[in-house]
Amino acid sequence: MLFFVLTTGRCNLLCKYCGGSFPERLVPTRPTYDLLLLKELIESDSNPAVAFYGGEPLLQPKVVKEVMDRIDAKFLIQTNGTLFEGLEWEYWKRMDSILLSIDGTKETTDGYRGEGTYSKVVWAAEQLRKKGYSGDLIARMAVSEKTDIYRDVCHLAGLGLFDHIHWQLDVGWSDSWTDFEGWCARSYEPGILRLIDLWIRRLKRGEVMGLVPILGILKRLREPCTNPPCGAGVDSIAVMPNGDLRACPIAYDADWAFLGRIGETDLRELISKLRRCRITGECLACNHLKGCGGRCLYMNRERLWGQSGFKKICEVTKFTIDAIAEIQPEVEEALIRDDAIRQYLDYPKYNNSTEIVP
Ligand code: SF4
Ligand code: SF4
Repeated sequence: MLFFVLTTGRCNLLCKYCGGSFPERLVPTRPTYDLLLLKELIESDSNPAVAFYGGEPLLQPKVVKEVMDRIDAKFLIQTNGTLFEGLEWEYWKRMDSILLSIDGTKETTDGYRGEGTYSKVVWAAEQLRKKGYSGDLIARMAVSEKTDIYRDVCHLAGLGLFDHIHWQLDVGWSDSWTDFEGWCARSYEPGILRLIDLWIRRLKRGEVMGLVPILGILKRLREPCTNPPCGAGVDSIAVMPNGDLRACPIAYDADWAFLGRIGETDLRELISKLRRCRITGECLACNHLKGCGGRCLYMNRERLWGQSGFKKICEVTKFTIDAIAEIQPEVEEALIRDDAIRQYLDYPKYNNSTEIVP
């Protein structure tokens, strides 16, 4: 089970697509429950992974350290990377995966996240490399209208710092778009085709580029996988700072996502309640369900862009899945030539909080 532990609802940035902190009344600035209850819950699972999340989790470094000192689990963190020095190396090095938020070039990243952010995140990634971080260092991009997906992904790959690059479209709740469909047709979809072409050319030379959507969707197409790909409603639980247990860390006020309270609801009950939070509706009859998995449980339940907006997101999702499905035969041929690449194609190895489908 993947446990998202939100150490705070506050963030030190004010990114354009997100708007910063959660409302403090609903998502407090620090955990208000006893960490012993968290230990009890997490250690009742046979194979737990803890993803520190927020807000910005490193606004509460003491909580991160206490959890890591007291709880036996695999650890990951999703951080904006600007508070790197707030956590000592001995904790960083124990993280199985580190997801640093960075959106591409300096212009793209600072344009969304604020001046100076890019340099801080790159510096953090360099420090991790210099110190010999041996886990999975993931560039986690948010993709919106300023993004040129081909240019921005290639830029991050060219830095030579990240093992993997993952992106999620800023869609479904954001009102920052002027022309989503136009941007998809002019920029994003051609960029996706160029990226897939680059990826397959490199694969033929024996190199597996760590592009999570390509690796993850290929894996979904060949193996049984969870719906949705992020595991919300299946194998992930969010522990909110107020002690609420929820099916998705974003759904802090949605009734359908509420599973119980820490200290009151045990893992067995949680797992049985998760069954009420499955992907529903048109996704179940969609011929892209295998690759897509319903994409996002939150979006499946909360149609903040309305039904027509949901369909527009589906169109770009289907385009991406179809383009990736087309290279499957070439991937199979590459595997026949060189079986050693299989270990790199098998990604993610477990639910490491990358949502797979952009
Ligand atoms: S493409 Fe749309 S309808 Fe189809 S499974 Fe994905 S989210 Fe659901
Ligand atoms: S992808 Fe959607 S359902 Fe999954 S964690 Fe993110 S917001 Fe929640």
